[in-house]
Amino acid sequence: MEAPGATQVFLLALMTAVATGAGALPFLFAKRPSRKWMGASNALAGGLMLAASFGLIYEGASRGLFRTTAGMVLGLLFILLTRAFLQEEKHDRVAFAAMSPLDARKAVLIVGIMTLHSFTEGIGIGVSFGGGEALGVFISVALAVHNVPEGLAISLVLVPRGVSALRAAMWSVFSSLPQPLMAVPAFLFVGLFEPVLPVGLGFAGGAMIWMVFSELLPDALEETSSNAVAVVTTLAVTAMVLFQFLIR
Ligand SMILES: [Zn+2]
Repeated sequence: MEAPGATQVFLLALMTAVATGAGALPFLFAKRPSRKWMGASNALAGGLMLAASFGLIYEGASRGLFRTTAGMVLGLLFILLTRAFLQEEKHDRVAFAAMSPLDARKAVLIVGIMTLHSFTEGIGIGVSFGGGEALGVFISVALAVHNVPEGLAISLVLVPRGVSALRAAMWSVFSSLPQPLMAVPAFLFVGLFEPVLPVGLGFAGGAMIWMVFSELLPDALEETSSNAVAVVTTLAVTAMVLFQFLIR
C-alpha cells in the first residue's frame, strides 16, 4: 500500500467535516417538527454522542490514561469558564441570527464548543494517518459517522430558534472545519502532535459528555416523556457501540 499523502489526509478530513452537515438533513423534510419528534431527536443525538464520547476517551486512554483524564477535566473547566463569561450581563449583545440574547448565547456556546472540540479530532485524524493509511481511513470513517449526531445536535439548537435548515447545515460543517485544518499539520509533524493527542481526545470526549447532559437530554425531557427519552437514548447508545466495534 502506498504511503498516504497530505492531500489525501486533507480530503478525507474534509469529508468528515461535510458529514456533519448531514445532521441537518431531517430538518429539510420536517419543516415544522412536532414536540415529540424534537424530543426523540434530542435523545437520539444525545445517545449517539454519549457512546461516541466514550469511543474517543478509550482511544485516548489506550495511549495515555492520565493525559486523557486530565484532558477531560480541562475540557470541563474550559466550558464552565466560557459559560460564565458568556452569561455576564455585558455580553447581552451577543448576536446570532435574529435570536433573543438568551437564545443567542446558547447558540454561540454550543456552536463554539463543538467547533473547539473538533480541533483535537483533526489532530486525531492526522496522527492516525501517521500510523498508516488503513488506520487513518478507519479513524476518518469513524469520525464522519460521529459527526452526524453533532450536526443534528447543532441543528436542534438552531432550527427551532429561527435558523434555516440550510444555514444550520452550514454551521454544522463549520463546526467540523478544524478537522481538515488540523489533520494536515498533525500528519506532517506527527512526532510533535502525538504526545498531546490523549489530552485532546479527553478534552473532546469530556466536552461531548457535557453537551449531552447540559443541553440534549434536558431539551429532550422538556419535549417528550422520560420513558421515551430513555428508550431512544438506550437504543442510540446501542447502535453507536455496535457501529464502533463492527468497523474495527
Ligand atoms: Zn466530536
